Parts: sequence; structure tokens; C-alpha cells
Amino acid sequence: MRKEPEHPFYLPIWYGGTPEERRANAANTYVRAEGMTVTLADGTSFEDWSGQAFVNNIGLGRADIAKALADQVLRMSWLTPAEFADIRLALTRDLLAVLPRHLRVPFYGLGGSDSNEAAIRAARKVTKRSKVLTFQGAYHGDTMTIENVSGMGLTAYADPRPWAVHAPAPYAFWQNLGDWDRAYEETLDAFARTLKKHGPKEFACVIVEPVNMTMGAVPLSRDLSRGIRELCDRHGIKLVADEVITAFGRTGAWFGSETVGLRPDAMVFAKGFTGGYAPLGAVVFEREWGERLRTTGFPHGLTFGAHPLGCTAARETLRILRTEGLVERAKRMGALLRARFEGLREARPDDVRDVRGAGLFLAMELLPRGRGRKGGLHAAWPRVEAVWTGLRRQGVRITTNNDGSSLMVCPPFTVTEDQVERLVSRLDACLAAL
Ligand code: PMP
Repeated sequence: MRKEPEHPFYLPIWYGGTPEERRANAANTYVRAEGMTVTLADGTSFEDWSGQAFVNNIGLGRADIAKALADQVLRMSWLTPAEFADIRLALTRDLLAVLPRHLRVPFYGLGGSDSNEAAIRAARKVTKRSKVLTFQGAYHGDTMTIENVSGMGLTAYADPRPWAVHAPAPYAFWQNLGDWDRAYEETLDAFARTLKKHGPKEFACVIVEPVNMTMGAVPLSRDLSRGIRELCDRHGIKLVADEVITAFGRTGAWFGSETVGLRPDAMVFAKGFTGGYAPLGAVVFEREWGERLRTTGFPHGLTFGAHPLGCTAARETLRILRTEGLVERAKRMGALLRARFEGLREARPDDVRDVRGAGLFLAMELLPRGRGRKGGLHAAWPRVEAVWTGLRRQGVRITTNNDGSSLMVCPPFTVTEDQVERLVSRLDACLAAL
């Protein structure tokens, strides 16, 4: 019997596919990513509207960032996160220039999961309480602790934590009611009821996304933002905005919280913070909370947190957003794309159920054919999958929400009007073919 040849192999973060598809080959291995184009080893290229996990905000492969990173490697590629470093202070200065005025004290980590954990630890430290409230179905990260805080259900080998509490999200009410105004009202009532049931004075913090990703670009309403703020104030609970996706222009404003009228006590960043050029996460605390942590100390240490190269990439990303007017551009291109999506909904009322989102973070929910859910997915999934596949055949990658009801796009802010119009006409053709 012949021995199988040695094959180099690693486990990608990939929940789907068949075991065979989870082997690398020229048709599934990427070798280049430039602007918003990604290219496979077999030469196939895609125009990528997924943002590559909602990270690609400013376009990939920029020479100016390459140069800044190379300079920083030569100057100081590494310094323990326990020390002050000029690059970390420079980033802080740049960040404070764009942050809401009450958020003043950053703590730098590696990415979104650990920065959410830093926020929870910091909330526990100052409130001396343990519970955390998030929305059912939302995602806040994937360590064995934070998966409890993510409201997406646990793996069979998880470590369930009773302090992680979840309240029903607007999307759940929308699915039943088909009316967003009522869905937001019901959400706030249920949020208050959940706090009451679990003892409001036992909660250290609430964590919410200004615009939720997993359920398909679902923004908080202004009333819901205000209501959550009031509940947190009434019960002395810290309000944390998970801005891992929504920060730095994605929603057409510098921060998603501004878009939805949320006033958080801390914001959490990752992903687009560095445009994907290096890893970096952060939680930025409101002045008094940050001051408490400074005076009493805040031990939350990951070796590669606050990495000088991550800080360099974040500084460069902020510079590019500012000097190239990309936040305004995200707003303008987002408005155009949304108007075109709305146009498709009006033209195809039997296919498109909902268009939602903010800035360049948009979703289109499709109407199902027939009733009921299959295999845990939404009844609209076969149609969503058909559109996803149809676009892919035309060299376009988009993404979908978790239950499969909605197409979702999250392109870099450098996307052009031509690209928007081309995507919309391709999408229209795919919808027509359903
Ligand atoms: N929060 C949100 C809203 C996210 O989308 C993600 C990642 N998808 C995270 C937190 C976790 O971030 P990371 O993967 O960098 O740990």
C-alpha cells in the first residue's frame, strides 16, 4: 500500500464546508489582497464586498502603510506592553482627537475578544459586581470566557458561566412582528425585564453593538439607545459599546455610537482599527472610570497587546481616514448603495423583505419561498445562497448574516460609484434569476 505524501496543513477558522473542502488547494488558497480584490493561487480574482471579516476599511496593500511599518520595525519593533512607548502615546494622542470627548483613557490589547474581556474586568473592578448583559444572538468574541458573553449558544465543550445573561435582540422581535418600531419598543421592555429578573444591582456592565453584525446589520434605534442608557444610569451599570466593526467610519460617522445616539461609558475597538495591517484591539474608558483604573492599577496583560506594529498601523489608518476624507466618503457611498438597495426592494417586493444598516454596513433580507426553517437556517436561506453563489460566479464576494436570511456587504470606504452600480446590476440579475 502506498503511503500518502506528507501534506502541510493547518486548521483555518472555518465553521462550514465539508472535510474535503477544509484541505488547502489552489482553488481555495489566497495569494494576494490589494484594494478590495482578493486573488487565489489558481489565478481567480474576486471583488470582495465582505471586508474580509469586516476588517478592510481603507483598502489592502498600501505602500504608505508598508513604509510606516518598516520604519517602526527598524526603530522599535517590540517593547513589553508593561512599559510606556512613544508609538503608543502617539496613537493615544491621535485617537483622542477623534473620540467623543468623554472617552479619554485607552487600554490596548490584541483584538476584539480580549478587549471585550478587558472591559468586563474593568467594569467588575469598579462596580464590584459580576453579571454581564448582552443581546441573544450577538457576537462579542470566541475565547472560552467571551463565548459565554456572545449570545449565540455554546459549543458542547464550553464552560458555561452563570454571570453571562442575555436579552432578546431587536431582530428576534422583527422576525415575529415585521415592524421595526414595535420591535425596538419590545426590545427595550424585554431588556428592562431581563435586568429585573436577574437583579439589576448585580450587573457590572451591558455590552451592545451600535449596529449588530450577526443578525444582519441591525442598528439600535435612538430610542432604544436612550432607554438602555437610562437603565444603566438608574442601576449603576457600565455601558460598553462593542464598536469592533462599527468604529472608524464604518457607519458613516467616526463611531457607530454617534450614528445611533448611544452614549457609552467605554468603547471597544479591533478589526478596522488597523485596517487589517496588523493586530490591535482597545477599550477606551470614560475619564473617571479610566482614572480609577490608573490610580488603582489594571492588570490585564497579554504579551502581544499594544504591539508597536499594531499601534503604527492604527496611527496610519487614522491618518488615512482623516487626510483622504474616508469617513465622509463612507457616508456618501453608503447613502448611494442604500438608495440602490431600496430601489431593488421597491422593484422586487416579492423578493426583498428589508433593507437596513448604516453607512457602508448594509444588509438586504430576502423573502422566503414557502414556510419554515431548515437545519437551523432561515427559510430565506436557499434564495440567499442562490444570490451569493450567482454573485460569486461573476467574481463578487459578499457575506450573509448568521441565520441565512440576509445578504450583507461591508466594503472598504474607497469603493467607487462604478463599483456600487455594477454590484447593484449584478444583484438585480441574481434576484431576477431566483
Ligand atoms: N465583537 C464583534 C462585534 C465582532 O464582530 C468580533 C469579531 N467578529 C469580535 C467582537 C471579536 O473580535 P476578535 O475576533 O478580534 O477577537
